Amino acid sequence: MTGLRGRSLVVGNWKMNLGEAAARALAATLAKTLPLDRSDAAVAPAFPNLRVVLDAVRETPLAVGAQNMHWEPRGAYTGEVAPSMLAEMGVRYVIVGHSERRALFGETDATVAKKVVAARRHGLSPIVCVGETSEERAAGRTHEVVVAQVAAAFSANELTAEGLAVAYEPVWAIGTGSTPLPAEVTAAHREIRSALTARFGASAATIRILYGGSVTPESAPALLSAPEVGGALVGGASLDAASFASIAAAASAC
Ligand code: PEP
Repeated sequence: MTGLRGRSLVVGNWKMNLGEAAARALAATLAKTLPLDRSDAAVAPAFPNLRVVLDAVRETPLAVGAQNMHWEPRGAYTGEVAPSMLAEMGVRYVIVGHSERRALFGETDATVAKKVVAARRHGLSPIVCVGETSEERAAGRTHEVVVAQVAAAFSANELTAEGLAVAYEPVWAIGTGSTPLPAEVTAAHREIRSALTARFGASAATIRILYGGSVTPESAPALLSAPEVGGALVGGASLDAASFASIAAAASAC
């Protein structure tokens, strides 16, 4: 997706995978091979590997994201990571509200909203994940669910549209090999865009809306060229350099 809404963005969510050496090697390979003249890309390693990955992509267009963070600037929060720590390292993006964090680690719309504010206060770009479960989809509630998640995530008065991104990730599509039809993705993205416009006005047009859920080199061309799709959040396929490069190439071609 180029043109009025700008360059598309492809983000690799490495989740709890790759040791330090493997993370460094994959980042170095991607920094050399990704086609980034017409689109943007980032990788999101586990916290302990942020430093080696940042070093591996230094002075290249490949950016680095974190997979989570706390909303407080500092304090007695054992096991948590502050937004200022990420910003000081040179991290640009932070994934917020991934469905795995919502389902397994108690992330709620309220904590997502606090993290979005904290990220922007520290100059980080939050990628807010929203998406329906298979039960919600079966009940015809997809649009209602994602619109409510978007409204909650961006409810703080101090936010502007600047630096924000949304990833539409149907929960049932993550890691399953199943994807919605491109037309269903477009319909969900249109609902999300309307919710963003209701919240931020015309400046909402600058917010990239990514699709995530079983994006592979095979599924990427159709999903990424669907109207309203501004890039992809990629899990499993981002762990393989050739697969992620092929998805980034599909984004560049849109
Ligand atoms: C994800 O977890 O954000 C994701 C999109 O995973 P996968 O591509 O493996 O479905």
